[in-house]
Order: sequence, then C-alpha cells, then structure tokens
Amino acid sequence: MIYADNAATTKMSDAAICIMTDLMKETWGNPSSLYGFGQRAKEVLEDARKKVADAIGADPKEIIFTSGGSEADNQAIVTAANIGATKGNKHIISSAFEHHAVLHALQKLEKQGFEVTLLDVHEDGLIRPDELAAAIRDDTCLVTIMYANNEIGTIQPIREIGRICRERGVIFHTDAVQALGHIPVNVVDDNIDMLSGSAHKFHGPKGVGFLYVKKGIKVSNIIEGGAQEKGRRAGTENVPAIAAAATALTDAAAGIEKNTAGIIAKRDRLIKGLSEIPHSALNGDAKSRLPGNVNFCFEGIEGESLLLLLDDKGIQASSGSACTSGSLDPSHVLLAIGRVHDVAHGSLRLSIGEDTSDEDVETIIGAVKEVVEYLRSFSPIWRDLESGVKKHIL
Ligand SMILES: *Cc1c(COP(=O)(O)O)cnc(C)c1O
Repeated sequence: MIYADNAATTKMSDAAICIMTDLMKETWGNPSSLYGFGQRAKEVLEDARKKVADAIGADPKEIIFTSGGSEADNQAIVTAANIGATKGNKHIISSAFEHHAVLHALQKLEKQGFEVTLLDVHEDGLIRPDELAAAIRDDTCLVTIMYANNEIGTIQPIREIGRICRERGVIFHTDAVQALGHIPVNVVDDNIDMLSGSAHKFHGPKGVGFLYVKKGIKVSNIIEGGAQEKGRRAGTENVPAIAAAATALTDAAAGIEKNTAGIIAKRDRLIKGLSEIPHSALNGDAKSRLPGNVNFCFEGIEGESLLLLLDDKGIQASSGSACTSGSLDPSHVLLAIGRVHDVAHGSLRLSIGEDTSDEDVETIIGAVKEVVEYLRSFSPIWRDLESGVKKHIL
C-alpha cells in the first residue's frame, strides 16, 4: 500500500504510540485529583503543555488542550466574537477557502448578527495582504486565515497578515493544522494571537488538539463544566493522548530541517510527472506550498472514479478534503481559486510524507497516467472535448 493522504490523517509515530500506551497502563489517574497518583498525571500534562508551547514559541499558560483542530477553531472564533460583541465590533474577516470548522462557525455567527467578509483567494491559492488591509474596518474584531490550505497546500503570507492585524489592533487567528510539524511555525515571529493545532496531522493521535491564545486575550469556553484547563475548557484531560501529541509535535518540528528537502524533491517529481498528462493543471502556487502537497485537476474525468481505481492499485489518495468526500459538490477550495465545476470535479490530492519512497513516487505517476487515460477512454465529456463540441479549459 502506498499511503498518499497525509493531509487527511497521518500514521502515529512509534514514539507517540509507546508513550500513549505506557501512560494508559501506568499513569491513568485524573490530573485534577489531589493525591500523588493524580498529581503524576498532572505533571505529565504540564510537561506536554510545555513541549507544545516550546514547539511554537509560546508560553505554556497560553496553551489549551482541546479535542482537535475543529474544536480549537470554534473556540478561537467564539472567543474573538465575544470580545468584539462587548464593544459592538461585529465584523470578521476570513477567506473563501478555510476549513469548514472555520467557515461553518462563521456562518453561525452571521445568524447572530455578525458580518463576515471572505477575502478572495487568487488563482495561485494565496490571499493578498493589501486586500486584507483594505478590508479591515473600525468594527473588525477578528481576522482568521489558515496557515496552509488542507487541499491545495498553499502557504499564506502569515507573518505579513499578522503584522497588518497587529498594526490595526485586530485579533489574528490562524488554523495551522496543516502547517504544524511540516513547516516552521512561531507565534511570536508570525504575529499570531490565536492558533489551532491537531495532533493527528503530525503523527499524533486523533481526538486531541490545542488552541494557543496569546496572554491578555480573554478566552471564552465553549464546553461548560469543571475547572480543567484553568476554566477555559471543561472535561477531564486525555493525558495519554495529550502527552503523545506533545511528543509527536516535538519530534515532527525537530525533523523539519532534516526531512523537508527530500519531501520537496519527491513532491516536485510528482508535479513534473503528472504535468505530462495532457489537459491537466496543478492547483495552487508551486512554490509557496506545503512540502508534501500535490493537487491536480484533470479534464474530462471524475475524481471519485480516479480514487477508486487508484485504491485498486494500492494507492490511497483523495480528491479534496476528507470532510467533503462523500458529497457530490465540487471542492469549495477549487471553486475559490476559480476552477469551474467540471474541472473541479476531476481533482486529485496526493499528500506525501517522509515515508514516501522514490519508488512510490514513480508508481504513483505511472498509475495516475494509466487511470486518467482509461477513464477518458469512455468519458462522454472527454469525447465532446476531443471532438470540439466543448472547448478545453486546461
Ligand atoms: C484536519 C483539519 C482540521 C480539523 O482537525 P480535527 O482534529 O480533525 O478536528 C481543521 N483544519 C484543517 C486545516 C485541517 O486540515
């Protein structure tokens, strides 16, 4: 099997599995309990908090553990919205290609009287900082822009966006779920006020993530209950999973320098190989892009059929995000960068990692070429394109 869907989830590292199982066996006390057995779990929890904070240049007090990236996104948005609402500032800026955890949270706020401006994502999959600067108003209470996109892998000019928000006194949140552990992220250098992370995207376990909130910002909890996480997130902490997440993040961040050049070389070989397929196009900027992300559109085919046939050949890939697979709507990300419906339907996302070998890359290129040709051989849309009834777009 060739696993090329690391943007959907990653395999847990051996170190993370080892720590998690050890803690489940040995240190399963409640970290809120006062006796020594509970306090040992508390120590593990606080050690994990420090590791996560160190990995992003934050202070441990600024880290709140959550059930994952979706919860962190929701909490960040509710936090900024509540702060804004107390001052009558109910305008939020985001982008059209955010993760649904952000977009759907914003839609909910719109129903509650907030106004949301979605910045245009250009054809290269990047937003323009000057357009952000122009969109900020006196009543803007939040700018939320993802660090790197989960479908097309484009890396936004986060530092510049953060600088503009700082200058204008607007809270800046970034969903950094796809970036953490894959490219360097530092909340101080990048001028970030709030940041979301999810462990299963950097070789940690599923169901655990975190929200960084800069000191001085009053956090709103979205889950009511006990006083865990200093009253900012109720619910007994999943200490084994949190410790595994912290180890995975530390290891992933430490491996960035060693692994990145190799992954980029394989990514670029994939891009070159797939570009040889006629009437195909890479989605998103080739340079400002996550090391492991390749996303293509092929005219005249359905992405779903492509995926199923690749699966038959032992290759796991995706047509968009895991969250939209199963729905027949084309990806909102591909539509946001200007792909028309027909073209957006024929998309393929390959997200490789340090485990992907050169041989895997060649196997993938060969398989995709073969399957695209096969699907086109009986596609009515392709027939229309080739006979000139319809015009080629790519
Ligand atoms: C996966 C993902 C999320 C959701 O994280 P979960 O831990 O699965 O809730 C949010 N944002 C982005 C960009 C993601 O890729």
